[in-house]
Amino acid sequence: MQCPYCQHTSSRVLESRCTEGGQSIRRRRECLECRHRFTTYERIEFVPITVIKRDGSRESFDRSKLLRGIVRACEKTDISSGRLETLVDEIEAQLMVSSQREVNSQEIGELVLNYLRYESEVAYVRFASVYKKFQGIKDFVATLNQLQESTGEQLDLRAATLPPNSPFSITPS
Ligand SMILES: [Zn+2]
Repeated sequence: MQCPYCQHTSSRVLESRCTEGGQSIRRRRECLECRHRFTTYERIEFVPITVIKRDGSRESFDRSKLLRGIVRACEKTDISSGRLETLVDEIEAQLMVSSQREVNSQEIGELVLNYLRYESEVAYVRFASVYKKFQGIKDFVATLNQLQESTGEQLDLRAATLPPNSPFSITPS
């Protein structure tokens, strides 16, 4: 937390106290550089994300729905349920860090695919088949070919595989 007097970024907490009926924490801090004291408040950020569906209708982002879709795609793979939870956490976190409060369902689908690509080819193709509404074997073959091309490249560049103007691109903090 930057000191309001000298802009130094390190401070120590002198005192923490719950306020607003437990909805926030008030912290009294002292700047390690100039010793000025200042107060910060910490609150849970609750910013609902709206998903715009393919047919143009809107609904609130539903974490458990996303998890269900991923669980279905990962059935009988060796991905643990803990790992699936972590994936959903990561995807949700990516949605949260984007400044957009509305996101297309396709963008979420692509995001999921970007993660599944590194987890399991089977899960990837299954999820793609549902999300892209595969019509037949041609679609499977095309997706497998894409998968092969993409995983021929570097393997751990999840964020980098997103288009540069994607709302999910994470800027390093
Ligand atoms: Zn200071």
